[in-house]
Amino acid sequence: MTDEIPLAGVIGNPIGHSRSPRLHRHWLERHGIAGDYIPLHVQEEHLDEVVRALPKMGFVGVNITIPHKVSVMRLADQISDRAILIGAANTLIFRRDGKIHADNTDGYGFLANLRAGAPDWRPDVGPVAVLGAGGAARAVIESLLAAGATEILLANRTRPKAEALKSDFGARIRVVDWVQAGNIIEDAATIVNTTSLGMTGAAELRVPLDGLHPGQVVTDLVYNPLETRLLAEARAAGCVTVDGLGMLLHQAVPAFERWFGVRPEVDDAVRAAVLE
Ligand code: NAP
Repeated sequence: MTDEIPLAGVIGNPIGHSRSPRLHRHWLERHGIAGDYIPLHVQEEHLDEVVRALPKMGFVGVNITIPHKVSVMRLADQISDRAILIGAANTLIFRRDGKIHADNTDGYGFLANLRAGAPDWRPDVGPVAVLGAGGAARAVIESLLAAGATEILLANRTRPKAEALKSDFGARIRVVDWVQAGNIIEDAATIVNTTSLGMTGAAELRVPLDGLHPGQVVTDLVYNPLETRLLAEARAAGCVTVDGLGMLLHQAVPAFERWFGVRPEVDDAVRAAVLE
């Protein structure tokens, strides 16, 4: 018997909407681990003192979400290569030697979800169209390039943000104007929406979708609703579609394993627990 109750959590502002507590608590229960996972509402000016205090209270690590993913990097003693490339962290691991390790598992989650939902998907069969150039796009692009994508066609409403991504990630990215989004959707083998458009409460993704055709793989990072307009139209056009909830589930796997020592499964039961 030990008195240690391993704790993890998620730090953000706001935080009430986060589905991560349901996800991790489901796995804790499934694996009989006497720990907990707690949503932590933290303002920017308190981030440093909160993070530094957590290991003293039994926290083995935390997830980091909006708006702290970039600023939290300054607190890390060690940063994974992929987090450096992405320029943001979504996971902290509090090591026993007192050091803080920062990682970013969003790109891993994106790819694992794509591979689970579209088992025949290959990164190098044709261009990948990426809509959006925010924080999530950086993780998606890093993972696509690491997986061997040969060409990424990138469209963002604010073109300079797409150009900045190209200068960070290199020659395999071709930036196109946002008004050309319909064309890259037609030309691509894989289509990824990384914008927040289509999310409940946000504006609709209003790019032309009539170029969608069978053989394409289409995925949306938005998972509320589970079937966005993009995914509904893609399904109707005969594309293989993959919803964004699986990315949330898969990005949590490496973190849970590092914190609690068990690699959890992404299955229907955990999907149902998160959707409850
Ligand atoms: P972000 O950094 O704020 O980026 C938002 C992106 O959406 C930017 O490219 C922005 O374009 C674009 N956008 C917003 N409003 C727009 C509009 N009216 N017209 C055209 N483009 C618009 O956010 P993020 O962190 O990248 O997250 C993006 C989405 O991915 C969110 O819905 C988030 O919930 C989702 N996400 C899901 C997962 C998952 O696990 N499934 C993980 C991470 C993120 P501008 O640059 O022009 O502003």
